[in-house]
Amino acid sequence: MSQSAMQEITCPKCGKKHSFQVWDSINTLEFPEMKEKVRNDEAFRYRCPDCGATALLNYNFLYHQQEDKILIFVDADGSSYGDMEKILKQRGNAFDGYRKRIVLSYNDFKEKLLIFDAGLDDRIVEIIKSSIWDNVEERYKDKHIDEIYFATNEDGENGFLFRKEGHMVASMEFDKALYNAIKEAALSRIDAISRDDLIIDRNWAKTIVARLG
Ligand SMILES: [Zn+2]
Repeated sequence: MSQSAMQEITCPKCGKKHSFQVWDSINTLEFPEMKEKVRNDEAFRYRCPDCGATALLNYNFLYHQQEDKILIFVDADGSSYGDMEKILKQRGNAFDGYRKRIVLSYNDFKEKLLIFDAGLDDRIVEIIKSSIWDNVEERYKDKHIDEIYFATNEDGENGFLFRKEGHMVASMEFDKALYNAIKEAALSRIDAISRDDLIIDRNWAKTIVARLG
C-alpha cells in the first residue's frame, strides 16, 4: 500500500509556503511511475512555484518494490530504526523471502537501488567496498576520501566513486570477477550467518569478514 500526504514546505530561498506531496510508503506495483521518480530524485525534489528554487527533501519512508520483493526503509533522521527493525524482522507474513534493508541516508538508499538494479547482491558489494576502504585508508589517507559509493554510468557500466566533501575525486571499475569469486566461495556461509541482517554497510562487512575468517 502506498501512502502520501500533502505537506506544507517553506521555501529555503524565498520563505513562501507551498504544499508538496510527501510519501510515508511507496509501492511501485501500485504507482509504477514512482520507480523512476525515486531514481531521478523527482519524488523528493521540491520546486518553489514562486522563485524556482529547488531542494531535495530528506525524510523517512518505506520503499516497497513489490514486483522484485525488495523492501527498503529509509531512516533519514535516525528516529525510527528500532521500531522498523522489529517490524521488518517479523516472519510468517507477506514479506517472507524479501530482501529487507534499513538505510540511514538518502545516498545509501540510492546506492542500494543501483546495486539491486544491476542484479547484484549488496552484501558482496559491501564486502568488496570494505576492502577498498581499507586500501584507501592505508595508502591514500592524504586524499581525504570521505565517501565511496557504488555507481552505474550512462553506458550501464558499474564502478565505485570516491568522494571528498561531496565532490567526486576518483573512480574505479567494478571487478565482476572478484564479485563472482566471493559469491562462489562465501555466499552460502554469508546467508547462514546474516540472513536476517537489515543494515548492510561497512561495519556489517567488517564483522562478516572477521567471522568468515
Ligand atoms: Zn521560493
